[in-house]
Amino acid sequence: MVESLIALGSNMGDREGNLRRAFGMIGRQMKLVKISSVYETEPMYHEDQSWFLNCVAAVETDSSPRELLERLQTIELEMGRERSVRYGPRVIDLDILFYGNEIVSEPSLEIPHPRIAERAFVLAPLNEISPKLIHPVLGRTVSELLDDLKTQKKVVRKLKRASDLAHSS
Ligand code: ADP
Ligand code: MG
Repeated sequence: MVESLIALGSNMGDREGNLRRAFGMIGRQMKLVKISSVYETEPMYHEDQSWFLNCVAAVETDSSPRELLERLQTIELEMGRERSVRYGPRVIDLDILFYGNEIVSEPSLEIPHPRIAERAFVLAPLNEISPKLIHPVLGRTVSELLDDLKTQKKVVRKLKRASDLAHSS
């Protein structure tokens, strides 16, 4: 069993319902170990789109990194995700942040996820559940990466805990 960290995001339709549904589907396929709070976050890259809800989950899985990506992409498709603009609006986005300490560097799969260090919407929830985790490429902990991050992007912690979403599905 390997512990993997997964980032969830949604900025279309019933965002909270989308996270809840994704947790239900993930939980049927692997063990959900820890879940961060939900954050409401300002969009990056394409700024003229709705704000996101984001959270991070730790899972235990037997799947290889490639199989895990396929499982997550199947969930995205089942939830009606259409691939259009990169970084554009989406019902659900499921990204693999870490897979144990492994480094994967393939055209269609990079682990650790290459944009962790620039994303407050990932580092803030990640810091809640794994502040001491060391990024295997950058050699810095999650809390150090969050301290280093200089961004004006707003990331607002919502009171509603994602674990409530996971348990109510
Ligand atoms: P993004 O999440 O970057 O906005 P997509 O969700 O559409 O965009 O993902 C684009 C591609 O990123 C996927 O088809 C997948 O092959 C690739 N990818 C590379 N590394 C990862 C990763 N660690 N987690 C998820 N997808 C990844
Ligand atoms: Mg993605």
